[in-house]
Amino acid sequence: MTALAAARLGYRCHVYCQQPDSPTEQVAAAATVAPFDDLDALARFAAAVDVVTFEFENVPAESARHLAERVCLRPGWNCLRLCRHRVVEKRFLNDIGVATAPFRAVNGADDLARAAADLGRPAVLKTCTLGYDGKGQARIGPETDLAAAWTALDRDEAILEAFVDFEREVSVIVARGPDGATAPYDPVENMHENHVLARTLAPAPVAPDLVRAATETARHIAQEMDLVGLLAVEMFVTRDGRLLVNELAPRPHNSGHWTLDACVTSQFEQFVRAVCGLPLGRPDRHSDAEMQNLLGDAAEDWAAILADPDAKLHLYGKGDARPGRKMGHVTWIRPRA
Ligand code: AMP
Repeated sequence: MTALAAARLGYRCHVYCQQPDSPTEQVAAAATVAPFDDLDALARFAAAVDVVTFEFENVPAESARHLAERVCLRPGWNCLRLCRHRVVEKRFLNDIGVATAPFRAVNGADDLARAAADLGRPAVLKTCTLGYDGKGQARIGPETDLAAAWTALDRDEAILEAFVDFEREVSVIVARGPDGATAPYDPVENMHENHVLARTLAPAPVAPDLVRAATETARHIAQEMDLVGLLAVEMFVTRDGRLLVNELAPRPHNSGHWTLDACVTSQFEQFVRAVCGLPLGRPDRHSDAEMQNLLGDAAEDWAAILADPDAKLHLYGKGDARPGRKMGHVTWIRPRA
């Protein structure tokens, strides 16, 4: 979707991916298929392009540095570093005055016992790196055997977070250009099933004060990170109306796919504008929207979806419809309430 937006602006995208026939390769002008840690392939890639960005923050540190030494990398390594490790991310957020769920870094079974005693139960044990869509997460209930939970996680380090009894989950996506200009999208509500995003409602049905607070929080974080590109900020709204930031993503985000059909400038176009140093477009929502992910074989209902004249179908061109895999999404728009 980024490559399509870039093409519309007259750019030719060169995608670097680990597997052949990726969805982006189908619509990009050029492709390098090589492992992320192939430094020679990375150097050739860097020599072939003017600016590099990514839609996956878990590229190896050495590879990101290798690229940054050769070509303009946006967002920069510091943003990647902050967003790829849950303890580093949450400490950074607390240091800049942004509230998160209470948490403890955990480096062993004894540590986990201390952290659980400190934070109370229920709590959520998560891997620090490479966790997404609920992978690498375990709920720690009153009866959970902590030693077994630690062994099952199979990592040297982890994070224990207090369980947040939230009213809803919201996210804000903000773009920031190299000149520091920012453009936030309206906060949206996200509904998860089995830890995977199922539906997004735009706008989030929350009070104006909360809209302002969520938007300002996202803008503040992007500024403090000195981010150039797009930042998605996932937040919990607690039952007493507070915002706690759960997670950051320094790239286009699934909770922003609705912007393709309901905003003056989509998150993908805005992302391209930001990383290429173009002026940002207007992020305004011209319509209200509901986005539903098509997970696994739900994408096979494409004919029924197309039969609904109000449904905007987006299929990603992925091969295997494994259960839970994000194969596409559908957006319905309606006039702004
Ligand atoms: P994450 O991978 O951190 O985005 O977590 C995936 C989902 O798990 C979130 O969107 C929440 O629905 C749930 N979750 C994660 N952390 C917590 C927490 N500390 N308290 C309650 N629910 C959580």
